[in-house]
Amino acid sequence: MSLEQIRSVIEIIQQSTDSYMFILDLNSDIYMLAEKATKRFPFPSTMIENCTEILRKVVHPSDYEMLAVDIEKCRSGEKDSHTLEYRWIDRMERVVWISCRGTVVTGTEGHRLLIGSVTELGKKAKADNVTGLRRECRFRQNVETLLRESPQSICYLMRIGIDNFKEINEKEGIEAGDEVLRELAECIQKTVSEGVDVYRLVADEFMIVDTGAGGRQQPFVLYKNLQSAIATMAKNKEYSRFYTVSAGVLETGFSGRTVEEIMRFTEFALNEAKRGGRNQLTIFTKEAYDLYLKHLDIRKTLRQDINDNFRGFEVYYQPIVSASGYELIGAEALLRWKNEKYGNLSPAVFIPILEESGLIIPVGRFVLWEAAKTCKKWKQYIPDFHINVNLSYVQLYKSDMMKDVERCIREVGIEPEGLVLELTESGYIETNDRIKEMFKDLKAKKIDLALDDFGTGYSNMKYLKEIDVKTVKIDRSFVVQALQNDYDYNIISHIIDMVHSLGSAVCMEGIEEKEELVRMMKTKPDMIQGYYFGKPSPAKQFEEQFIRAASSL
Ligand code: C2E
Ligand code: MG
Ligand code: MG
Repeated sequence: MSLEQIRSVIEIIQQSTDSYMFILDLNSDIYMLAEKATKRFPFPSTMIENCTEILRKVVHPSDYEMLAVDIEKCRSGEKDSHTLEYRWIDRMERVVWISCRGTVVTGTEGHRLLIGSVTELGKKAKADNVTGLRRECRFRQNVETLLRESPQSICYLMRIGIDNFKEINEKEGIEAGDEVLRELAECIQKTVSEGVDVYRLVADEFMIVDTGAGGRQQPFVLYKNLQSAIATMAKNKEYSRFYTVSAGVLETGFSGRTVEEIMRFTEFALNEAKRGGRNQLTIFTKEAYDLYLKHLDIRKTLRQDINDNFRGFEVYYQPIVSASGYELIGAEALLRWKNEKYGNLSPAVFIPILEESGLIIPVGRFVLWEAAKTCKKWKQYIPDFHINVNLSYVQLYKSDMMKDVERCIREVGIEPEGLVLELTESGYIETNDRIKEMFKDLKAKKIDLALDDFGTGYSNMKYLKEIDVKTVKIDRSFVVQALQNDYDYNIISHIIDMVHSLGSAVCMEGIEEKEELVRMMKTKPDMIQGYYFGKPSPAKQFEEQFIRAASSL
């Protein structure tokens, strides 16, 4: 057989295998290999004349010597076959383990030819021995084919994940984990209709590909049935173990989409379901995904700016006045962040991102120090002046707040009474002993607490007494309601009486207009904060507008 004939036979065989067939002419150093391999690995063409040089680029540097020695043995006649596992580097510069097998034959021209195939070891595991399902690489291949040949045939893809799989593995061991995977695979297979494909992806995740015409409700129906099947299985096993699953769904309209996109989008939808509280199904939407990416980008930008010495961060101050004579008694420190890309984002957007990423801890320190330094300065003009600093629960839970506050007071050299720590009212206070201890400690150190956003959520008079707050701040949303109807007005009025009877003061937030002030003053608050008296402004402006004016009186 001539070299050309051998090549044609190999091209035919190539179509029925996932491996990459090759012929290496050991005399002339010509290397011929399947076109598929050239797409995935950096071979310039299917016919390479300077094989040694090219292989140096494709083969992992640490493996090259071993390969060269083996090929030399085949060339010299010392060996008639070649079996080696080693590493190639793909076009994305990722390391890929391969198994290369070949046999030396003598061609018609008397050339010694090494003919064989290269198999990617990672691709070998096409079926999963735990669940008996096909694995991710088969899913990818099948979906690639569908996307190429009939993208509209995909009705939906559902990615399923077990909510507490890690816990099962940790508590009960890997074998219990495998058993759960087997059970779940069984439940899924029992639940899906005929012709629907099920695959096992990594770890505890499964993928369902439905090419039927089930309609929009189909994934919801399937998910509900799956939940029932899992519950029934748990019941049959007398609840010896219980788990729930979440699902992320990608619906029809796939033209132009790639498998990579499908993997990313379904993973996002599944994670959204988990983030939303688990045991639920989330349908992928591009809007939510784009928002999420933006969110991640904001987080990255915030981190960069923090590392760059708090670039773009500034503390603004809003006046707090006494209700008795409207004189300036303090200010609330309010964080601002300005960035080239995002402009002036509202704290309502960036504070939650700082909180969930833990970045609020360094930023919170920045605000505390800035506020303390500013307060020290302004106290020269108004001796009783105080600045309120907002604290996040993340700071309380995940950092040593007490130490920070003490250090700040010491380093800046300010009396503790100059700082008031504002905390949003929430159920945490009541239930968390550590926080209660911290409050006692603050009290002992003469640092006052204000309960912020009162009236927005978990309003509870009980902890006013328990934690001994100096001030209760009534949120603007509550004030707005009170201005609109008598019912809420009466509630605020009663709350203020009750707060007073418990020994705390009331600061009313969000007074914008004179009429609002006149009406709300009848409820007898002790302090007022609102645009009517001044919007939040940079320290310099605040000083010029309020401090100097008040001190020259
Ligand atoms: P907050 O602590 O309740 O602060 C009061 C918010 O109401 C401020 O919004 C303030 O500008 C706004 N406000 C005051 N008076 C009026 C008014 O008359 N009308 C209207 N419409 N709004 C008024 P801002 O500055 O956007 O801050 C929003 C929230 O972000 C704050 O609510 C606070 O929870 C949080 N925040 C701000 N700075 C910090 C900080 O340094 N640390 C932490 N953890 N949270 C902060
Ligand atoms: Mg506040
Ligand atoms: Mg507030």
